[in-house]
Amino acid sequence: MDFENSRAFAQSLDEQDELKQLRKEFLIPQHEGKDAVYLCGNSLGLQPVKVAAYLQKQLTNWHNLAVEGWFNGEEPWLQYHQQLRTTLGSLVGALEDEVTVMNSLTVNLHLLLVSFYQPNSKRYKIVMEGGAFPSDQYAVESQVLFHGFDPKEVIIEVFPRAGEYTLRTEDIVATIDKHADELALVLFGGINYYTGQVFDMQVITETAHKAGAFVGFDLAHAAGNVPVKLHDWGIDFACWCSYKYINSGPGGISGIFVHQKHFENQDLKRFYGWWGYDLTKRFKMTPGFVPAHGAEGWQVSTSPILLLAVHKAALSLFEEAGGLSMLRKKSLLLTAYLEYLIGEINQKHGEELLKIITPKEPQWRGCQLSIICKRNGKKLFDHLVENGVIGDWREPNVIRLAPVPLYNTFFDVYSAANLLDESLAILK
Ligand SMILES: *Cc1c(COP(=O)(O)O)cnc(C)c1O
Repeated sequence: MDFENSRAFAQSLDEQDELKQLRKEFLIPQHEGKDAVYLCGNSLGLQPVKVAAYLQKQLTNWHNLAVEGWFNGEEPWLQYHQQLRTTLGSLVGALEDEVTVMNSLTVNLHLLLVSFYQPNSKRYKIVMEGGAFPSDQYAVESQVLFHGFDPKEVIIEVFPRAGEYTLRTEDIVATIDKHADELALVLFGGINYYTGQVFDMQVITETAHKAGAFVGFDLAHAAGNVPVKLHDWGIDFACWCSYKYINSGPGGISGIFVHQKHFENQDLKRFYGWWGYDLTKRFKMTPGFVPAHGAEGWQVSTSPILLLAVHKAALSLFEEAGGLSMLRKKSLLLTAYLEYLIGEINQKHGEELLKIITPKEPQWRGCQLSIICKRNGKKLFDHLVENGVIGDWREPNVIRLAPVPLYNTFFDVYSAANLLDESLAILK
């Protein structure tokens, strides 16, 4: 599409947007009496209006049914999470019984590493993206220590080449191949949180499996953002949080995926808890663990129903949007428009003041653009926030802006770019 740098053009794209009615389903933060320009759904998605009603319903059940709520009522809490599996499964390309919701993300990463990182004297190495989200780095480091290995020897990170910002798939493949004989696990983000790069999950998975290793993905920045086919790609496990692109609230419940091929795999160790016990026998309270079928067998602890209610409300909006495909179509256009407008700013100022480090190819990025500011980065960012444009700042010099197709408009993108332009002029 030939974009134009004008308010009228942005507004015309909004008029043509078939998903425009979805914005009304969200509570938009206010700035000086008007909707703020919220481009931070990569960090915390906005609150769906219907969350309050979904929560109230469970508060009422708690009031009226109390402990009977686990077994009685329209939606007994015992199986409440199962209502979410179809929508969630379709968001990540998984079968219903390959996904479940439990705990929070880093906790789930640990639980899945218990199963999928079982190093021995022959296979013990882990290949990861360099600059993975810190929590993932800490989780892996501690798992390696827990097994009595040295993180410095065991964790192999793939970094961008000198002068580049993102990883080349060929370098990831070469690293996996190089360590194939000692490799236990390949663990990557679906999207790198800092650069916004989508990794070639299919190729990484094929290569890891050829090397004889398990492969898992942290989809924190991918779930609800870009299409993923966890089942078809044969990925062994994955986990994600629900509070970024899935809009399920600060500290919201996390999702996990375990591929069907591992359901009966007795070699995979697990940490047990009663919520992972076969539901038909759970309340017999007998010793000896019998796992529930599928991903549910990895559950440990009583479901947090209030978090699940928020998650259910948020997921229903993906159903209203007809799944991810229309959203992705709009997302590609929103992000391309932002990219175009940033190009216009650089051109106007006669130098690349704002350098986008996120890949240019649409299939290798999601909503987010990560922008290196050549000068005055933090001041520029603060000026944006003071004027009602909310993105986020990552040290030392990156602004991340993520237009989200569920609630952002082309006019949001236009307004943000306009303010960036103005701020650069002021800060000169
Ligand atoms: C957001 C994010 C996290 C956060 O983990 P929590 O356990 O929810 O605090 C972890 N890993 C990645 C890759 C993330 O993007």
